[in-house]
Amino acid sequence: MTVNLLDFDAAGLQGFFAEHGEKLFRARQVLRWMHRSGRCDFDAMTDIAKSLRDKLKVLATVLPPPIISDRLSDDGTRKFLFDVGGGNAVESVFIPEENRGTLCVSTQAGCALDCSFCSTGKQGFNRNLTVAEIVGQLWQANRVLGGDRYDRCDTGEDERIIGNVVLMGMGEPLANFDNTVTALRLMLDDNAYGLSRRRVTVSTSGLVPAMDRLRDECPVALAISLHAPDDRLRDELVPINRKYPLRELMAACNRYLEKAPRDFVTFEYVMLDGVNDSDRQAKALLEVTRSVSCKFNLIPFNPFPGSPYKRSPTPRIRRFAEILMEAGVVTATRKTRGDDIDAACGQLAGQVLDRTRRAERRVFDLHEIGQ
Ligand code: SAH
Ligand code: SF4
Repeated sequence: MTVNLLDFDAAGLQGFFAEHGEKLFRARQVLRWMHRSGRCDFDAMTDIAKSLRDKLKVLATVLPPPIISDRLSDDGTRKFLFDVGGGNAVESVFIPEENRGTLCVSTQAGCALDCSFCSTGKQGFNRNLTVAEIVGQLWQANRVLGGDRYDRCDTGEDERIIGNVVLMGMGEPLANFDNTVTALRLMLDDNAYGLSRRRVTVSTSGLVPAMDRLRDECPVALAISLHAPDDRLRDELVPINRKYPLRELMAACNRYLEKAPRDFVTFEYVMLDGVNDSDRQAKALLEVTRSVSCKFNLIPFNPFPGSPYKRSPTPRIRRFAEILMEAGVVTATRKTRGDDIDAACGQLAGQVLDRTRRAERRVFDLHEIGQ
């Protein structure tokens, strides 16, 4: 069986070359060809001896997930759908900014954590993405977005268009820990994507033990999906809270900050009409997060078919933000972008064959309670 070289970070690729009796500096050359110059064809790697290229052709491939669709929103947001085999598809979203833009990347086909306001969660979980599938989204997007500018990367002028990566697409990155960390290492590696730790963000619903591991193994910028100021409501919206309640989550944020590349964590808070958006709840939120150096990112809820919530009205979001800001906490309200192509936060659905059969189970539960 051939090996997909996109599954390896620098250390893994060196191991592969050593195993096959090749010099270690070859691993570095191939890494650069793949990730800096976007090559998947060994014959394009012109400083590699022909004999080694022929050997690699037998042993290995460079195989990113194929793009099934590529849609452009009126506001410039661009959504890619990738085939990850077995009837599953995942999405990435590119959000252009003034200079280099941000790519929002998926880490799982579906998600097991079942947050009540999230369309990925509603599909259930199918499987973890491989490293090649995670980093392959960045590989593909760089190539498609960069056009021929991309080819000049290896001349030293890095003109790539993606300057930030956020793991905020489909899935819970910390539930696919090992593959996520290997993909992060590639994003940070100067011989691959060369992004700074501050420009790569992991978003988590709050898997506390994995947050500690991330801090020790690969600290990057951290965003926490908070969404509620008390355990009772958070248990309902983000069910993993039943396992790792707010007190433990806040303590884990402070431990993370000891090694984080930024001196704050970002708390994401989806604005759900009449559910978590009152003045009282804004004040409770300040109280519960008081010990943590943080910024808030308010996300107007993005509806999807069958979702049980409504977006908070704009004046309500504004007032909620004011209460946080009056207390001195930096608060941004996320612009809803790409909703004409279902690319806004929480709308990424891809297409996932639900091994947990969540939809069926829900119908069954309703029968059980006689509805
Ligand atoms: N699993 C991770 C990362 C993916 S979700 C996490 O939960 O953090 C990325 C962000 O989108 C999270 O903050 C999530 O809570 C938010 N989100 C999910 N569904 C949403 C929706 N329908 N509208 C707005 N934001 C949503
Ligand atoms: Fe999973 Fe994040 Fe969606 Fe929750 S919000 S179901 S953790 S992807």
